[in-house]
Amino acid sequence: MQSAQAKHALIETGRWLSEQGWVPATGGNFSIRTEQGFVVTASGHDKGTLQPEHFLEFDTEGAQTSGTGHPSAETELHLALYALSPRTHCILHTHSVAATVLSRLTADHSLDITGYEMQKALHGYTSHLETLAIPVFDNDQDIPALAGRVTEYHAHTPIQHGVLIRGHGLYAMGADITETRRHIEALEFLFNCELTRRQLEKNG
Ligand SMILES: [Zn+2]
Repeated sequence: MQSAQAKHALIETGRWLSEQGWVPATGGNFSIRTEQGFVVTASGHDKGTLQPEHFLEFDTEGAQTSGTGHPSAETELHLALYALSPRTHCILHTHSVAATVLSRLTADHSLDITGYEMQKALHGYTSHLETLAIPVFDNDQDIPALAGRVTEYHAHTPIQHGVLIRGHGLYAMGADITETRRHIEALEFLFNCELTRRQLEKNG
């Protein structure tokens, strides 16, 4: 994909994610792997009203090649996630209430979800009987350290659809922007189901 096309696709996606309420208060960041490297949102802009000048471009080595805004500190985590798999071509990072709360309720390194038909919306899943394991990492303002932990985790348990950062949000990934959008929508649906189920079981 060319960078102009990537920016256009991410502007449209930002509008959609904003309408869902998943990128409040300029939160979140988005990226696409392009023919030259990567296009990533700059820090601090409302993700529902992005413009082409709100993006930065990086080469395949992670060096900034274009754009005047500040890179988000989280750009480094995007680049680390791309390095895990050549299949990944789009990463969308969101700050939804469900992802923020459910990740805090999960003490383990993995949020395990099973029993939902919606799991089949995730690449590689064919049954509700399988267990979908989303890795959960403690939040850290030291993004290189966090990126290092994500890379280490992937070495023993491959990361496929995304990761949760505790009390922070979701990084969803996919083979293209369409698949990443489907993954984020399915994961948010599943997070909401899990939150509701846990509330009802606690009160029941
Ligand atoms: Zn964030």
